[in-house]
Amino acid sequence: MSIVALRDAVVLLGRFPALSGVDLEVDAAEIVLLQGPNGAGKSTLLRFCAGLLRPHSGSAVVLGHDLRESRPAVRRSVGLLGHDTALYDDLTVTENLQFLARASRIEPEEVGSALDRLGVSARLRDVVVGRLSAGQRRRVALAGVALRRPELWLLDEPHAGLDQGGRDLVDGLVAEAAADGATVLVASHDLDRALDLATRRVSVVGGTVTPDAVGGAGIVDPLGLSSRQER
Ligand code: ADP
Ligand code: MG
Repeated sequence: MSIVALRDAVVLLGRFPALSGVDLEVDAAEIVLLQGPNGAGKSTLLRFCAGLLRPHSGSAVVLGHDLRESRPAVRRSVGLLGHDTALYDDLTVTENLQFLARASRIEPEEVGSALDRLGVSARLRDVVVGRLSAGQRRRVALAGVALRRPELWLLDEPHAGLDQGGRDLVDGLVAEAAADGATVLVASHDLDRALDLATRRVSVVGGTVTPDAVGGAGIVDPLGLSSRQER
């Protein structure tokens, strides 16, 4: 069973067709890099796969749930790291993750190890999230995704705003998740890192998705002309 199966999917933001006929099939344990220019539709695609946007037309199934009918089930099952970190500013770091754990039926004891995993130091854990730096917030948001151990990780520019150590942690987390059988869609402009991590890449341009020629996309490229030319 595909983890993500989109056929001719159209998504409107207002009246703007942010996705205009997307075909995308992703299998379990793939790490798919979404690359493309600003405004191409990468964030929209990730939010759509997270069950936050409804399909205008076409078919879309994520983790076995039809996005026309079962978006709440999709929202509960995926882990989305968006531009907006979806944390409560007036709760502390620990309170935010405990809230998330409760909502996801995860033992509260696991909060500490998720924060350890993302290198969130003990002295920050009782600080309200509104007082954290952008990079610290991102680490906490990532700890929230790691805590929930979703089957599908949807990461929107996860390296952005992180220091070197944070970027390494993201890469380790993604590789570990895929090794455990989780599937990852990641939009990134940090191609040096993302290309090493990804098992496949696709291009998002003008609201559509085209397969790219690295690893498993099924495109024959005997001379390797298209591989990693932008590195
Ligand atoms: P990317 O993440 O690839 O930079 P986005 O998915 O954020 O691109 O945006 C895709 C397109 O949708 C852009 O042209 C953007 O201007 C447009 N867009 C985003 N949000 C809205 C909205 N609420 N209403 C109308 N258009 C939007
Ligand atoms: Mg974006």
